[in-house]
Amino acid sequence: MSSLFTAEHEDMRHGIRKFVRLELDPHAEAWEEQGAAPLPQLFRRAGELGLLGINKPVRYGGLELDFSYVMVAAEELGHAHCASIPFAIGAHLSAIPALAAHGSDALREEFLAPAIRGEAVASIGVSEAGAGSDVSAVASRARKDGDDYVIDGAKMWITNATHARWISLLVNTSDEGGPYRNKSLIVVPMDTPGVAVGKPLRKLGMHCSDTAPVFFDSVRVPRRHLIGEEGKGFLYQMEQFQQERLWACLRTLSALDDAVQLTSDYTRERRAFGRPLMDNPAIYHRLAEMATQIEALRALAYSAGQALVAGDDVVRRASMAKYLAGKLALEIPSACAQFFGGQGYMWDNRIARMLRDLRIVAVGGGANEVMLEVIAKQMGWIGRSRARA
Ligand SMILES: Cc1cc2nc3c(=O)[nH]c(=O)nc-3n(C[C@H](O)[C@H](O)[C@H](O)COP(=O)(O)OP(=O)(O)OC[C@H]3O[C@@H](n4cnc5c(N)ncnc54)[C@H](O)[C@@H]3O)c2cc1C
Repeated sequence: MSSLFTAEHEDMRHGIRKFVRLELDPHAEAWEEQGAAPLPQLFRRAGELGLLGINKPVRYGGLELDFSYVMVAAEELGHAHCASIPFAIGAHLSAIPALAAHGSDALREEFLAPAIRGEAVASIGVSEAGAGSDVSAVASRARKDGDDYVIDGAKMWITNATHARWISLLVNTSDEGGPYRNKSLIVVPMDTPGVAVGKPLRKLGMHCSDTAPVFFDSVRVPRRHLIGEEGKGFLYQMEQFQQERLWACLRTLSALDDAVQLTSDYTRERRAFGRPLMDNPAIYHRLAEMATQIEALRALAYSAGQALVAGDDVVRRASMAKYLAGKLALEIPSACAQFFGGQGYMWDNRIARMLRDLRIVAVGGGANEVMLEVIAKQMGWIGRSRARA
């Protein structure tokens, strides 16, 4: 894949690096202290820089580049000291692939174009209190009434919910065809009467990214807000999950790189028993192991990205990459915090923050165990009905 990164990729990389260093990192500590970043302004800035429509059509304001450029963006934003920013941008980006690929021209003009410009923050509404890992169990529904859908239900843990202008909502639109063929994706503007955003949830980490439940009570939207074909929502959602998972994987990769770098810097400086901590084989072996694990993750993520760019089936490799990212996101910050000793237990220490922030990678967008189910299915080891991808 590295041969796929051309001079144009490197130009984009440098531009995003500058944005991260000059416009995000200087504010990271203050935002973390406040537990909030100015997300609407940051989305607009990301839109100006072209980051929200890298692989989307020029017609709607995108750059119409391939997914390899999105990978560069995820990697560079992943270095941000405030992990909530690439997390929030990732949620926004995960809400738009189905609209971009299957939405009508009018729908794309109305909702995709402002999302690409960063004027309209988007959310993805899949999970419910009773349906997280098992997406097929979604209970929210939309019934047809004349030219409208009338939507009732509730979504849980919705990233960007308090800022979002619209949500890509997975709902049941029929009682026929079983749980994989009775669902649709519908664009719901958040200011539609009957939509209510609940109190932002207090989280272990990602404090500058808002997460809230969203309730739908007889919400009426025109039927033209349907994305693509009715009954294909589950399929479209599984397609757009692949890009979401790779984004999560690539931003995590960079954060893990930073964790190892910070730990190597610290253990070179910090002395115990008359020598730098780094002089202990137990420490440099573990750091060497972590660096190796990160390189393995990079190779897997690049190979999945390459498959996506080539238009190949990406599910097996994207699931493997997401699984490995989730596993390392649990293990590496914890091992690094250990080598920081008491400092690693301090709330404001960046390693301690990584410990809190990165944990979500093992759960969000498909928990580690769910990824293993998908991989096992892809390998032909379990039946089709057990794990959906
Ligand atoms: C900060 C945050 C942001 C989020 N943002 C969004 C968002 O924007 N939009 C959205 O739709 N959702 C969002 N989610 C929801 C997230 O995708 C779900 O939490 C996730 O899919 C897991 O679902 P669940 O919490 O219901 O866990 P459950 O389905 O209850 O599973 C609990 C645990 O059981 C284990 N498990 C589950 N299935 C299996 C199995 N088959 N075999 C073995 N073990 C299993 C896993 O360890 C899993 O973590 C967000 C969640 C968080 C915490």
